[in-house]
Amino acid sequence: MENFNFEKNSQEPNKGKRVAIIGAGPGGLSAGIALQQEGFDVKIFERHKQTKALGGAIILNAIGINILRSYGIKTDDMATTAIQRFRRFDGHQRVLQQFDSSLLNKANVSGWMAGLMRSELYERLLNKIPDDMIVNNHDFISYEEGSEGINILFEGGKSYTADLLIGADGVNSLVRQQLWGKSELQHLGIAVWLGWSEVEGLNRNEIVLNHSDIFQFGYAPLVFKGKNCFEWWFVEPCGENQPEPNDPLSYIRDRLKNFAEPVPEILNATKPQNLFRWLIKYREPLNAWSKGRVTIIGDAAHPTSPYAAYGAGMAIEDGYFLGKYLQGLDLSDVTVIQTGLGKYDNQRVKYTNHVVDFARTLGKIFHNAPKPVRILRDFLLDFTKIPERNIVKNSIEEAESLLKTVLDLEKGNQLSPLTEAEYEEDKSVKF
Ligand SMILES: Cc1cc2nc3c(=O)[nH]c(=O)nc-3n(C[C@H](O)[C@H](O)[C@H](O)COP(=O)(O)OP(=O)(O)OC[C@H]3O[C@@H](n4cnc5c(N)ncnc54)[C@H](O)[C@@H]3O)c2cc1C
Repeated sequence: MENFNFEKNSQEPNKGKRVAIIGAGPGGLSAGIALQQEGFDVKIFERHKQTKALGGAIILNAIGINILRSYGIKTDDMATTAIQRFRRFDGHQRVLQQFDSSLLNKANVSGWMAGLMRSELYERLLNKIPDDMIVNNHDFISYEEGSEGINILFEGGKSYTADLLIGADGVNSLVRQQLWGKSELQHLGIAVWLGWSEVEGLNRNEIVLNHSDIFQFGYAPLVFKGKNCFEWWFVEPCGENQPEPNDPLSYIRDRLKNFAEPVPEILNATKPQNLFRWLIKYREPLNAWSKGRVTIIGDAAHPTSPYAAYGAGMAIEDGYFLGKYLQGLDLSDVTVIQTGLGKYDNQRVKYTNHVVDFARTLGKIFHNAPKPVRILRDFLLDFTKIPERNIVKNSIEEAESLLKTVLDLEKGNQLSPLTEAEYEEDKSVKF
């Protein structure tokens, strides 16, 4: 077995400070920066030869923006929006979400959400990572935990010994599988098409979600390479093996032909190469992520429907909170690790499970509900405030409270993990 070569790559790490992260996605990179800031010796093992981002535009909320700032990353050029509107396909307004403006002021952001390209997020995170932290071409296979540390095994007989292992290896995480056993990745019966285009003259201070009976078209402002653009997403019911259409833009236009402006305008401005389809997958949530010297973060822990528009954001948050809860700990002692990771689980597991659950419920209600449920849904949306109250309760209140925690931490205050009592109130998702 070939051991990791420190002479070639970096200095020998300190026992008690050795952290190995599997996967250089947004979660792994965030954890890498956060833990290095806390004085740990971090290595991120990525199976690809090069670390680069695939995918289109994503949404980051004020929590993610503030975390990036705490890493010293520039965020003031992001296109933030303070309003989220739900509209019927013909333009009739159904729900208007406004965010707490005094909190936004405290957070030093002009809006709650910002659109940015996944590639730009990567670039900004990578700029904060020292060259020798990422070890490419290392495909994780398994780990062996011992009293003195954890031995991590890679394809080709390579290995590395650490005090703590973090699985940031995405939706098909092998770290999660070894730690918590196999679980089925279920197709939710929904596909999301993600695209972006350059359009002038639209309101850049709002995110708009337009729904018909079974389709959704949403759009949000995006700044890409200094240019004012819009990112958009089209959500439709979709079988797991349904092939992609030959001409996706005509296919989408056809399904949205009754949608009011600016939907046609945004679609017409989209270039075919700036568009891709993504099938939505789901795993039954876990009640804990950490055991012994191992934990998981990001999509490895909570594969997230893009309905939440929060997958990359939650992965970044996971990494940030790991840094906070492991601050100052000697990781050679497994009981010390367990205390830190227990607090991390307490902070993150229920919060992210709730986000994932709510996104899944919205996906079902808007795209896969039987006809009678759709009629009731549209009646409630068109004539009552019940959906608005539920959306605020399920997607805003807890996030605003989390933002307050991050702002407190950045002021130098101590972290108080969420208690079970804070989750006692009924969080079940109802319409
Ligand atoms: C290809 C892709 C495109 C996406 N596009 C969008 C988008 O346009 N908009 C949006 O809102 N969200 C998008 N998402 C979702 C969002 O970005 C994810 O929720 C977010 O990336 C989760 O971050 P993560 O770090 O947990 O996992 P990931 O981003 O999946 O990163 C996991 C990393 O682990 C590596 N890895 C996996 N297995 C191993 C192994 N055995 N050994 C070593 N390394 C391993 C992978 O190569 C990868 O680099 C996309 C996700 C993916 C995977």
